[in-house]
Amino acid sequence: MKVNFYTSTREYTDKKLEFDAAIASVIENGISTLGKEVVNFEKAVEAFTGAKHAIGVASGTDALVIASDILGFKHGKEVITSPFTFLASTSCIAKHGAVPVFVDIDEETFNIDVNKIEDRITDKTAGIIPIHLFDQMSDMDTIMAISKQHNLKVLEDAAEAFGMRWKGNGSEYNHSGTVGDMGIFSFFPTKTLGAYGDGGMIVTNDDELAKLTKIYRVHGASKKYHYDYIGYNSRLDTIQAAVLSVKLKYINEAIAKRETIANWYKDRLKDIEGIKIPGIKGDQKPVYYVFNILAERRDELAEALKKNEIGYSIYYPVPLHLQKCFSYLGYKKGDFPVSEKASEKILALPIYPEITEAEVDFVCQTIRDFYKK
Ligand SMILES: *Cc1c(COP(=O)(O)O)cnc(C)c1O
Repeated sequence: MKVNFYTSTREYTDKKLEFDAAIASVIENGISTLGKEVVNFEKAVEAFTGAKHAIGVASGTDALVIASDILGFKHGKEVITSPFTFLASTSCIAKHGAVPVFVDIDEETFNIDVNKIEDRITDKTAGIIPIHLFDQMSDMDTIMAISKQHNLKVLEDAAEAFGMRWKGNGSEYNHSGTVGDMGIFSFFPTKTLGAYGDGGMIVTNDDELAKLTKIYRVHGASKKYHYDYIGYNSRLDTIQAAVLSVKLKYINEAIAKRETIANWYKDRLKDIEGIKIPGIKGDQKPVYYVFNILAERRDELAEALKKNEIGYSIYYPVPLHLQKCFSYLGYKKGDFPVSEKASEKILALPIYPEITEAEVDFVCQTIRDFYKK
């Protein structure tokens, strides 16, 4: 049985009429950049997340770069983050000449180990970028307490975290991206809320930061052809916004389905020796964007999956402190042992709302057979 790691076609087939109508309507009404579909989608994200402002941009990566620029993560300032993530969480710091300062991850959650943050704060530290990775948010209570104490800006990389909510010791659940000064989402097709191409968003509760973001995404222009800043050309595409508005209507169902699928995996894999299933920490509402296992003989298992036509992914095979592009930072192997160990054992199994129970059964049986040998 062939099991795709991800496919967009099942969802499209299910809701073809709606997607086709949404896309056709943009074209029939005459293409406009930042058209009404973008404005409507931004409003819908504000309503869903509780963010005061949601501003559509061209990708999650652009959202990180623009927000880093606005928050002053540049010119030799230091920004604390973790090395076990996608490149964009750190390249946004380096892009404007700020210095990424890595802190290792918590081995249960793969998110930044908040107990190690304060040791790395210096008089140059400007901010923290926590990354809400795979299925859960970072410990935002501790991160916000540290940032308040040291007067740091917090930019949440919530690229993978649409729908995740953190309560911690607080009184209510807050959507990812809305706890720090600014937060970003990615609408890359595989993400929980994915477009049919690239897209991203910046959210903030701060009026001034929102105003700047809207200026920065159109070349720094406060009005047409009047440039107050050197900005970006980074707008959420109108057709993508139309697609995303259709998907947002069904997001709660999609999130619930992901949880059901995660439970199928947990049930079927829990007693296999050789596999560890990571847990969730803190009072929060996770979203199973990625379902990871920590596997003994990971690379051999990956081969077995491939042989059985089962899609998988390895996030992330090389932590960022060991990437060539960051060699100038002077880190070496052994600096972040938890991240390095995770990169050797982690393996992501297929999870998306349209995957069937029979497919999950087949994946789990294949894994079980592998460890019997
Ligand atoms: C996907 C992702 C990004 C980048 O988003 P794009 O929309 O692909 O540019 C950034 N950070 C993390 C953690 C991601 O997973």
